[in-house]
Formats: sequence, C-alpha cells, structure tokens
Amino acid sequence: MGDRPGIVVMGASGRMGQMLVREVSAHPGMRLVGAVERAGHDWVGQDLGAAMGGQPSGVYVTDDPLEAMAGAQGVIDFTTPQVTVDLSVIAAQARAVHVIGTTGMTDADLEKLDAAARHAVIVRAGNMSLGVNLLTQLTKQVAAALDEDFDIEVIEAHHRHKVDAPSGTALMLGEAAAEGRGLDFKESYVAARDGITGARAPGSIGYSAIRGGDIIGEHDVIFAGAGERIVLRHIASDRALFARGALKAALWGQDKKPGHYSMLDVLGL
Ligand code: NAD
Repeated sequence: MGDRPGIVVMGASGRMGQMLVREVSAHPGMRLVGAVERAGHDWVGQDLGAAMGGQPSGVYVTDDPLEAMAGAQGVIDFTTPQVTVDLSVIAAQARAVHVIGTTGMTDADLEKLDAAARHAVIVRAGNMSLGVNLLTQLTKQVAAALDEDFDIEVIEAHHRHKVDAPSGTALMLGEAAAEGRGLDFKESYVAARDGITGARAPGSIGYSAIRGGDIIGEHDVIFAGAGERIVLRHIASDRALFARGALKAALWGQDKKPGHYSMLDVLGL
C-alpha cells in the first residue's frame, strides 16, 4: 500500500473505463481502490475483475461515488458531462485529484468545474495523448506563422458510438489555431456546411466530423493556401494511449495546488 495513491475509475464498464481499470491495476505506482457504474447497471454489486471476465479483484462495483471515493486520492472519469459535473463536487470534498477525459461540456458545465477547482485539483483534457497535445502546440505555431491566405479546417473521424461532435480534440485544435491566428474561437467557429452556404468567410475555422465503425480517433488540421496545403495529422490506434495519459495526470496532480489544469501542464508543453 504505502504511498501509492488509491484511484477510483468512474464508468468502469465503458470503452475507456475498462481500459483504465486494466492500466491502473497494472501500474506499480498506484492502487485501484474503487469502480463506479450508473445505478441499474449489471456490474453494480459485482466483483470488478469477475465482471470483466477475469479473476476476482476484491474491488466491488458501486453506483455510489461518495462510497467509492472514501480513502481515494484520485478519480479518473471518462463518462458524460452531467456525471462529471456532479462528481467534481464529491471529488473536491474528498480532496481527490479529478482527472476528466469526458468531452461535450457546455460553458455552464465548465463554470461548475472551475468552481470545484477552487478547492481541488482538476486535470481536464479533450485528449490525453502526448501526440495530440504536441500537435496542439504545433497547430498554434503554424497558425501564427501563416497569414490569413491559409484557410484553417479541422477534420476528425471517430467510431459510430461517439455522441458528441465536433470531438473534444477537434475543439482543442481549433482553439489552438484560433489563438495562433489571433481569432476569437467562438466567432471563427463554423461546424456545419450544408446547401448554398456562400463562399468561405474569411477568419473562419471549419470543423468536419466523420463517424463510422471502430475508428478510435483521427484528426487533421489543414492550412489551405493558393497552390499549397499543409496538413498536421494525428492518428490514435490504441485507446490505451488516452488511459496512460490519464494515469500520468492522476499522479502529477497529487502534490499540486487546487486549480483547473490541462494535459499541457502535465506534459510540461
Ligand atoms: P462509454 O459510453 O463506453 O463509457 C461511459 C461509461 O460511463 C458507461 O459505461 C456508462 O455506463 C458510464 N456511466 C454513465 N452514467 C454513469 C454514472 N452516473 N456513474 C458512473 N458511470 C456512469 O464511452 P467512452 O467511449 O468510454 O467515452 C467516454 C467519454 O470519454 C466521452 O465523452 C468521450 O468523448 C471521452 N473520451 C475522451 C478521451 C480523452 O483522451 N480525453 C479519449 C476517449 C474518449
């Protein structure tokens, strides 16, 4: 046991949840101390290891995050915006680091997270991978280096089950591009084109979303000029990538002051 922080996985049966359970269980620097699923889910009350089709783990799935958080130093949460906002209050009370991978947050949700972050460490990122966070920085640099003759477009592709669009990562990349170019993110935002749209508005950043099959996550940032085009691309081929980033964030946050941090802080980018 010792100093290894105890970690709870929220949404333990989900695509990311199961990946997180495996990665936390295998990590020598932390302990899996809790797993939460929504009320009524089949796994609630079951041993987590057995529910995942393996050996019993001694950790029982609960639908009560308060119970799961007792004695935890961190919670990793890839669920839904409402679940994440509610959990932020409980994590702050428990003084546990809240690592948030959930996407699709509204401005009102983010305000609530900011309020919780006055008392606790929150690390939130639309994408937890090193590659995408590096790409964010590169996007900002390229957008700053090129003038407005280069139109900026973000294209993303994800699996058929994804419920929000554009992806959290596409938004991160778009924000970085807007910042580099000196544009207001919200004013520049064009997420759908359909029918007679008229010519492309100067100072806009366009977003396109592809949904299909089991695509884990692909993102292109395109800078399209006259006679040439620069494409910055990231392809995720393994969900473990996001899980490992989340574990790194949970450890990084252990000795930090309360605040709302991003993966750029964790990775020192
Ligand atoms: P998923 O639907 O497979 O998993 C979500 C899980 O949350 C489900 O098991 C669901 O039952 C559970 N859940 C719902 N309500 C709950 C509650 N009240 N308490 C506890 N658990 C509850 O989805 P997913 O593909 O794993 O993605 C989850 C989120 O993570 C999405 O917002 C997705 O966009 C995001 N995501 C982020 C990154 C990143 O790097 N930041 C990477 C991948 C996915």
